[in-house]
Amino acid sequence: MTNGTVTPGISKDPLVVLKGVNKWYGQLHVLRDVNLEIAPGEVVVVIGPSGSGKSTLCRAINRLETIQSGEIRFAGKPLPEEGAALAKLRSEVGMVFQSFNLFSHKTILENVMLAPVKVLKEPEEEARKRGLALLERVGIGSQADKMPAQLSGGQQQRAAIARALAMRPKAMLFDEPTSALDPEMVNEVLDVMTSLAKGGMTMVVVTHEMGFARKAAHRVVFMADGQVVEQAAPEEFFDRPKTDRAKDFLSKIL
Ligand code: ADP
Ligand code: MG
Repeated sequence: MTNGTVTPGISKDPLVVLKGVNKWYGQLHVLRDVNLEIAPGEVVVVIGPSGSGKSTLCRAINRLETIQSGEIRFAGKPLPEEGAALAKLRSEVGMVFQSFNLFSHKTILENVMLAPVKVLKEPEEEARKRGLALLERVGIGSQADKMPAQLSGGQQQRAAIARALAMRPKAMLFDEPTSALDPEMVNEVLDVMTSLAKGGMTMVVVTHEMGFARKAAHRVVFMADGQVVEQAAPEEFFDRPKTDRAKDFLSKIL
């Protein structure tokens, strides 16, 4: 176990469960009988070739995509289909994408305050105070009143993380959060994610950053062609991959 303070308990009920999940886009079978359980506090890094279904998997967990068969449960319950329950799920499962998706006409702080005020009905002052604290936590407190375009890519992505955290999520999904960044900005974002992981956040992270996977992940899940082909602790997976698919993939990226 490389991740300091968190020991995801196998005895605990899983926070996220995928059972026999299948998804097609038309004829294209993009998730094939995916089974996965994620414990509270667990950090799972998902890797695999482009087109293997990693984004679809993430999006299915907060129901940005529907599945055609199988079951996904969050906190013990099947994913809600619509309405207030679905909005609650989306707030409980924060998502950070490759593109930062900040509202360009609002300040960084306004971006962070918006959903807590609108969705959680937090009083504006409380949302402001918490928003500022979150921006401090991701290292951009001094940027609070700037517009997104005035920030670097790394700062914008940290703002996007703060914005997701403002909803007090139970889990965070990261889909290639550093792929669109200039190389010198990758680490400032990974550092924030590492600190979240150490703090016990349940995380699913799609990334090509193998250093992060080794350092922060409890488990690496390797996907290919819509299937979970192999999963193991990072040392085990990187040092002793079992399948030819994983060996081949690792030989190309390491
Ligand atoms: P990854 O994130 O691993 O690169 P994706 O989950 O994005 O993979 O995509 C899996 C497969 O589904 C790919 O073949 C992709 O082209 C296809 N796909 C993704 N989104 C859509 C969509 N909205 N409509 C049709 N096909 C899609
Ligand atoms: Mg993707």
